[in-house]
Amino acid sequence: MRKHEIQSQKLNEDFHKFSAKTLKFAGEYLSSIESYSVLPDTQPGELKARLPEELPEKGEDFNRLIDDTAEFIAPAMTHWNHPGFMAYFNSSASLPGIMGEILAAVFNNNAMVWKSGPGSTELEEVTLEWFRKLVRVSPQFRGFIYDTASVSVMHAFSAARENLNLGIREKGLFGRVLPKLKIYASEQAHSSIDKAALLLGTGLDGIQKIPVDENFAMIPEELEKKLSEDISNGVLPLAVVATIGTTGSTAIDPLPKIAEITNKYKVWLHVDAAHAGVVSMLPERKDLFTGHEAADSMVINPHKWMFVPLDLSVLFIKNPDVLKRAFSLVPEYLKTSADDTATNYMDYGIQLGRRFRSLKFWYVMRYFGREGLCDIIRGHLDIAHYFLEKLKTISGIEILAPLNFSTICFMHNPGISDQEELNRYNARLMDEINRDGRIFISHTKLNGKFTIRVVFSGINQTKNTADTALEIIAKTIKSL
Ligand SMILES: *Cc1c(COP(=O)(O)O)cnc(C)c1O
Repeated sequence: MRKHEIQSQKLNEDFHKFSAKTLKFAGEYLSSIESYSVLPDTQPGELKARLPEELPEKGEDFNRLIDDTAEFIAPAMTHWNHPGFMAYFNSSASLPGIMGEILAAVFNNNAMVWKSGPGSTELEEVTLEWFRKLVRVSPQFRGFIYDTASVSVMHAFSAARENLNLGIREKGLFGRVLPKLKIYASEQAHSSIDKAALLLGTGLDGIQKIPVDENFAMIPEELEKKLSEDISNGVLPLAVVATIGTTGSTAIDPLPKIAEITNKYKVWLHVDAAHAGVVSMLPERKDLFTGHEAADSMVINPHKWMFVPLDLSVLFIKNPDVLKRAFSLVPEYLKTSADDTATNYMDYGIQLGRRFRSLKFWYVMRYFGREGLCDIIRGHLDIAHYFLEKLKTISGIEILAPLNFSTICFMHNPGISDQEELNRYNARLMDEINRDGRIFISHTKLNGKFTIRVVFSGINQTKNTADTALEIIAKTIKSL
């Protein structure tokens, strides 16, 4: 036999042995995750210095790969599945999601066109219909999976731009005169909106930030004022973004009022619910998306708060044909005679190659079911309320934003009147809390105040997690 034939035979024979070894490591890691500090004790360059500079000449024993993962890689990880991970917006992976992800790699399917992946194409359609109904998005919308919300919003704005019929697809942006395009979003909107502006050619100057009220939600009157002023000055609005659950404080922009305005001025309305959108599956929060029927596109990330491992973001779009108009380009070698009722996902985005993301999503939805998912998310909301009540009893704590979901925004004031000094004190407080190792929290700025954020959305978080966090916060305040 030739060398490569021996290799191929060995790979199949070894699969059983090494998959068992890998999964054993995975199970042990997950069940002992609390023995790690959430943030690793490592410095920039430290891991690189510990690893060989050159690849091995001869293949190595697989067992050594696992051993080295345990010895070198795990200690250099920030542990997103750790219950003490309360920073940013947590993305935690659950058992069914992990298993689905493994099997997606096993199938290694590339669903450019239906024919190259009938199973993954149709499973994406089925799971996204399930998800659409689960989170009460109107049947006027159709879902598409992209990797992250930043990419989803880029696709939404590309469709919005195509919808303006400026001939950009054919003639491009340069060497001719076009109106000024602008995107309207609140001061608290996510930076991915600005990134999409960079990519789509409106420039940062084409982002109009709309002021927010005392709850950090967009003031619709300010939006209308700016829109009408701009339009009378010849600006062409590209899109308005309403955020349901801003990244800083989880503020909720007033969607029904914003929708009235975008209807009146005929502007594309995009809803960014990347983190908090999943909450609308709860019967008691069924009104979260009231007004979204008038929107053109929406983003929700199941990889954030639905226990699907990174990455999986869903873009719902009302008119998928305009997305197709923006992106469809069929090279000769991909022309299919197959019937054109089938979806060819390459037509709906910048990617040609497309991995099988829906499998892990299907696993998660089937394993937990609607009830199970609601129970976990409701649990997080309850833990957050419990945490808030206890936190308030610590002397000097100031709550800086309403608790809309499960993100608590606060600072501690030991009696400092100068804002800059108070900000420095809270930055130091946060760093000291994180140094404990059992929890990891992050911050934002609200009204110029350094704001500590604690988020409960991880699959492994319980009331005990909240108690641990409270204990560490109180202990650290005393020690400063
Ligand atoms: C996290 C977040 C994003 C960006 O999500 P990615 O998937 O990391 O690109 C956008 N908008 C909001 C409101 C978010 O919370």
